[in-house]
Order: sequence, then structure tokens, then C-alpha cells
Amino acid sequence: MGDFDPKTLPPLREVISSHGLRAKKSLGQNFLLDLNLTDRIARAAGDLRNIGVVEIGPGPGGLTRSLLATDAREVIAVERDAACLEALRALEAAAAPRLRLVEGDALDVDLTSVIGAPRAVVANLPYNVATVLLTGWLEILARDPRAISSLTLMFQKEVAERLAAPPGNRVYGRLSVLAQWLCQVTTVFDVPARAFTPPPKVVSTVVRLAPRTAPLAPADPDLLQRVTAAAFGQRRKMVRSSLKTLKIDVDELLDSSGIDGRARAEVLSVNDYCALARALADQSA
Ligand code: SAM
Repeated sequence: MGDFDPKTLPPLREVISSHGLRAKKSLGQNFLLDLNLTDRIARAAGDLRNIGVVEIGPGPGGLTRSLLATDAREVIAVERDAACLEALRALEAAAAPRLRLVEGDALDVDLTSVIGAPRAVVANLPYNVATVLLTGWLEILARDPRAISSLTLMFQKEVAERLAAPPGNRVYGRLSVLAQWLCQVTTVFDVPARAFTPPPKVVSTVVRLAPRTAPLAPADPDLLQRVTAAAFGQRRKMVRSSLKTLKIDVDELLDSSGIDGRARAEVLSVNDYCALARALADQSA
């Protein structure tokens, strides 16, 4: 944990006012100023000993302080807003050399080159890019399940529910299949809008994704994406009909994967989608 002592730092509200930070809606800026809450998020990440943590969007640095107070090896904080970065310089100095600030768009940052393994992601995500970021990290995990030790992320509750939804659930969809194929997904706790400054319009939820040592079943990630896109693209229809957009022999695909063509997308399990992706690979070979 090093010599970092968060008590030597000014309160977050003071950091915000002395740097004239005004929450920018375009950057999804809803800050957490209650350090008990940010400590709780850091704890939800589990044991961070020897782990390098990537935080997306540190803002004024509340969660960053909590992460620095854990046993994490180091924290790399990726922030797009220059004003927030300026405000974080004092924290960087206080925590040296365990905090590194990276200026830029998290969408352009390759997690595996910005920090050495073992690595984890912990973030109160900017909601406008949250699912795109997660999809990118899941693609990394599809190539190498050990590339990320864990992801502890704050999403809008509605996205969190989709991530954790089981088959048959109204919000079960492509993201549920992909996330659960690669990770064990747990919703940890809800955070009410009033806990943020300024408050967003929705409730938020902290989600923990623990990557599986191997995906739930074998499948090519691109083909899995294609079958889930086709099936959930028309989720009210029977898969016999929705899978026609793949422009392949659907009857043969269903036969060889053992899936009932009358089923709808939302009742098929992750294993069923993997079977479809494998059958699609066989048919395209
Ligand atoms: N972690 C802080 C907290 O909990 O108070 C701030 C969280 S706020 C929801 C999201 C943060 O992500 C903001 O600081 C915002 O500037 C930053 N951000 C938004 N889009 C970003 C992007 N594409 N890349 C990096 N940071 C981004």
C-alpha cells in the first residue's frame, strides 16, 4: 500500500471548486464525492494485491484515492478531460510512484499495453461509452482469458441487469451472452442517483465480472457475435426465421446444433449459442 495517506489531501469538493471543475454532460461526468462509497467499490474489486489497476475516468479522483489505499501494485488512470487531469496532479504527487495519469480517450487505449499483468479494471464508467468499452475488454478476454483478472464497473442499472440476465429474462440479450460466455457476472450493489454530483437520471449498479479460466463452451468469438446479432436482431421471432439473415442453410444449422427452430432468441442458453456458432463454423468450412 506504500506511504499513500489520503488524509493529507484536500476534500474532493475543494479540489472541484479550486480547479473550477464543472461536470460536463458530454463526458458523462457524474462524480462520487463520498469516500465511503468509493471505498466500497474498491472493496468490491476483491483482493488487489500485486495487481495493476486501470481506472477509466478518474474525474476529481474519489475512486482513485480509494484504489490507492488498497494493496494494488499501481493505478493507471485514463482521463479525457484536461481540467480533471490538472486537478489530479496533487494526487499523483502524493501517491508517487503508484499512480500514473494517462490523458486520452479510453476507447483508444489498449489495456494490455498500458499496464503489465496481472491487471484489473475498476471504474465508475462514463455511461455514454460504457458498453462499447466493455465489449472491447470482452474481445480481449475472448483471445486470452487471463488478460484481465477482474472488472469491477459501475453501469446504469438497466445495463447491469442486461449483463447479469439469465435466459428467459426479458432483458437477456447479446451482451448477456457474450459477458456470461467469458465471465461470471455478479451485480454487487445499487447506487442511488443522489449519491452523484450532479445526480444522473437513473439508478446505477456496481457489477463485478470475474473472467472464467476458459470460456463456458468453445466458439469462435466472431461467429458467436454473428449468431447472437441475427437471433436477437428479431428477438420476437422464432430462431428458424431470425437466423435466415445469416444467409446459410438454417435447417442444417439447427439440426447440427440440436436447437429447436421454434425457440425464440431469449430462451436459448449461452451453450446453445456456442453450439450454433460451432455449427456455423462447420457450415462455412
Ligand atoms: N471516477 C470519477 C468518480 O467516480 O467520481 C468520475 C466518474 S464519471 C461517471 C466518468 C469520467 O470519465 C469523467 O471523469 C469523464 O471525464 C471521463 N470520461 C468520459 N469519457 C471518457 C473517455 N472516452 N475516455 C476517458 N475518460 C472519459
